[in-house]
Amino acid sequence: MKTIPIWQDIKTKNYPKLTSDIETDILIIGGGITGINLLYALKDDKRKVTLVEKNKLGMGVTSRSTAKITFLQQNIYAKLMKNFNYDTAHMYYEATKEAIKKMVDVIAKEKIKCDLEKVDSYFYTLNKKNINKINKEESILKDFGEDVYEADTLPNKIKVKKAFYVKDTYVFHPLKYVTNLAKTSITSNHEIYENTTIENIEEKENYFIAYANDHKIKCRKIVLACHYPYFLFPYVFPIKGYIEKSYVMALPKKNLLFSAINDENPIYSYRYYKKYGLTLSSSHNGSFNNNHEQNFAKLFKMAKDDIAYAWSNNDIITLDNLPYIGKIMNNMYLATGYNTWGMTSSFIASLILKDELQGKTNKYAKLFAPKRNVTMDKIFNLGISICSNSYSYLDSKLNLSKKYYKNNPYFIKEHNSTLGVYVDENNIKHIVNIKCPHLGCNLLFNKIEKTWECPCHGSVFDLDGKCILGPSNYDISIDGN
Ligand SMILES: Cc1cc2nc3c(=O)[nH]c(=O)nc-3n(C[C@H](O)[C@H](O)[C@H](O)COP(=O)(O)OP(=O)(O)OC[C@H]3O[C@@H](n4cnc5c(N)ncnc54)[C@H](O)[C@@H]3O)c2cc1C
Repeated sequence: MKTIPIWQDIKTKNYPKLTSDIETDILIIGGGITGINLLYALKDDKRKVTLVEKNKLGMGVTSRSTAKITFLQQNIYAKLMKNFNYDTAHMYYEATKEAIKKMVDVIAKEKIKCDLEKVDSYFYTLNKKNINKINKEESILKDFGEDVYEADTLPNKIKVKKAFYVKDTYVFHPLKYVTNLAKTSITSNHEIYENTTIENIEEKENYFIAYANDHKIKCRKIVLACHYPYFLFPYVFPIKGYIEKSYVMALPKKNLLFSAINDENPIYSYRYYKKYGLTLSSSHNGSFNNNHEQNFAKLFKMAKDDIAYAWSNNDIITLDNLPYIGKIMNNMYLATGYNTWGMTSSFIASLILKDELQGKTNKYAKLFAPKRNVTMDKIFNLGISICSNSYSYLDSKLNLSKKYYKNNPYFIKEHNSTLGVYVDENNIKHIVNIKCPHLGCNLLFNKIEKTWECPCHGSVFDLDGKCILGPSNYDISIDGN
């Protein structure tokens, strides 16, 4: 079994690292699907656009997803009707449908090789008690004018209590999409740097200085497309969201042209890619239930064949189920909080941000505005979010070795720091300081993926402390720097 995402098992082009001070008009921070969609949207913009990525393009959350491109997103429309109203739900539906159409058009126009396939998307329940949830979403979509079709079995022969499906949705290879779209987005005034981490941003009178790799980037406008931007601007978002973590496996299977998801505990989400069937499950709030081995075990129980790939991933869930896209302060923009539906929401973001960066009004801007009003729901969810973060902080400090590690890895104390030692199969010791460089939570070990993970905000580090996911801008090392 390979413990990497199936999408990351390809070779991709390398881009240079920033090695000098530069000046640009628009700086995009983050080379995931959000950053690259925006870089492409600005292709005809005559200003200089620079995208910087701290690792390699697409290797963050994007290439750890299941990569369904669909407007059937569990019971999102019922949730938006509850949190807001009918018009909000309808507008989200319209924005998502438009994004899917335009994304598919771009893939065709630019001949982007990304294994795009048209599939039917199912929303189903295995539990009699949740039939109403399915019925409600079905009736909202019918009301929006969508054609929906009922089913009592999924195409993979799983019998369900109730299901319906919609047509004209897609699946694709997210890393091929991002890297191939990036290639077509490079122009004489558009550039990409990899292995370039923005560590700090200073606001000057009418420009910013972003600091990366000991160099300065002077820019007029900044877009935070870095998934979890609160590290750079903690003060921007007092009300943010929480991390949801999920686990995915790929098994050898015959390709079936459908995708499916339920909205209950446990979640089972399915899609297919070439000769593999992907199953996602064991989703949980990243601040709780962080026994990764147990969570993988629950997923693996369903595998009747040998597992080819297994991995986990984090996404940001917002407090009112709408992404945050738009201006957060003068000349600074943000796109995040996709509630696990970033393949489409990142494309919506590229349309909105392109217009805002070019001084135009976008019809969806108000809906996704990061500074939208606070509702009672949000305040309630914020309370939960603060409590869960505090809980995981304390839990990681108090129950460290008792709960998660047993004997592997083991810990040593050095100069008042706790170091985690992992001995690999070649007898090589990998030692890291287990204090997260973000806000100091103790890291937990993920035995399956062999990573150190922060239970508070989801940063993930490899065995040698290199940050591969999450808000931390810093790698960790033996001395914790
Ligand atoms: C298990 C799971 C399954 C999912 N499946 C689906 C699905 O089927 N369909 C769907 O629509 N959505 C899905 N999603 C959601 C989707 O994957 C994400 O919403 C989306 O990929 C987020 O894209 P992004 O570009 O914002 O983030 P990322 O892909 O993480 O990109 C952000 C980039 O910014 C870089 N970065 C961070 N900080 C800095 C810095 N300081 N300087 C420079 N660069 C920086 C990172 O290295 C990273 O590459 C899923 C999510 C999960 C957790």
